[in-house]
Amino acid sequence: MTDIITLPDALLPRDGRFGSGPSKVSDAQVKALVESQPGVLGTSHRQAPVKGLVRDIRTMLGELYALPEGHEVILGNGGSTMFWDAAAFSLVQGRAQHCAFGEFGSKFAKATDLAPHLGASSIRTAPGGEAVLPEAEDGIDVYAWPHNETSTGVAVPVLRPEGIGDALTVVDATSAAGGIEVDIAQTDVYYFAPQKSFASDGGLWFAIVSPAAIARIEEIAASGRWIPESLSLKVALDNSRLEQTLNTPAVATLVMMRAQLEWMLAGGGLAFAAGRSARSSQTLYEWAARTSWATPFVADPALRSPVVATIDLDPRVDSAELRRHLRAQGVVDIDPYRKLGRNQVRVGVYPAVDPEDVGSLVQCMDYLVERLLT
Ligand SMILES: *Cc1c(COP(=O)(O)O)cnc(C)c1O
Repeated sequence: MTDIITLPDALLPRDGRFGSGPSKVSDAQVKALVESQPGVLGTSHRQAPVKGLVRDIRTMLGELYALPEGHEVILGNGGSTMFWDAAAFSLVQGRAQHCAFGEFGSKFAKATDLAPHLGASSIRTAPGGEAVLPEAEDGIDVYAWPHNETSTGVAVPVLRPEGIGDALTVVDATSAAGGIEVDIAQTDVYYFAPQKSFASDGGLWFAIVSPAAIARIEEIAASGRWIPESLSLKVALDNSRLEQTLNTPAVATLVMMRAQLEWMLAGGGLAFAAGRSARSSQTLYEWAARTSWATPFVADPALRSPVVATIDLDPRVDSAELRRHLRAQGVVDIDPYRKLGRNQVRVGVYPAVDPEDVGSLVQCMDYLVERLLT
């Protein structure tokens, strides 16, 4: 006995994972894992097989972003959250400006604001669903903002603000990287983690750093500032150049990351990957526009994220109830961000998600709501 409204098989997506992070892992990535057994998994990260894996990832990220001369890919353990703390130690000289228009931007702002060795951060805020951009300000040496605010589904342009001199632009691309196109020359640090558009697992961070960012990292390291070794970007830089990390990385995560990069590059690179996400999110926004009980949460179409679509539901449609029926049938993780507290669905449509499956998701929601509302 069940009170679940059964969805017709023909309507169900082939893969029902629509999480905003961790996100869908593709079959090809799991196959890559199996194939890396026994040569890579369970072997030393100081030896050729794992170092080669790190080298491949650094090289392929360089290709994906067509890196300008002098830019490098560095990595370390701890995910994007750890990177915020590392940035507070190794990138900010005296004072940072942050754009905080959601959970993640706010968290980085807090990290530099509370750091005892830094001045109070300048924090520009906007309500959830809206955005604010960085602007030149005296005494600021790092300008930080998220390319895509995953908690609200807002994506903003990545452009170096005018008049900031030799201050650095430090962009949180945790959910944008791999799913939204960008001109990397606008950034000094473009950092991310593998569990979103790269469809791998969490726990690592990657950063594309410019020559100016490298100079800043070197300069702060030489200045005598106390920096915990695990949070030192100088230590990460030196290790990355040797194709390794300070301490043991999750090798399986690296294997899955490489597999996803291979898939993206084989398909045509960033334009291909971003194109899939754009198609998927367009399906959702167009559906919301024509559906009486659904509305895009982000009012300004130009700010609507191509990788994380947030859709408000009419009060007559209980998001939790709708999601309960979906989850029981393998369609999972379209929950709204907890702290946003809205009657909403939030759909992660990273490149690994098949745009056709998004079409199916929409049909499943229509089917259920038609029956729930009667
Ligand atoms: C997920 C996310 C983070 C946090 O990443 P972790 O690797 O879990 O620390 C930070 N910023 C943005 C924009 C995110 O989407």
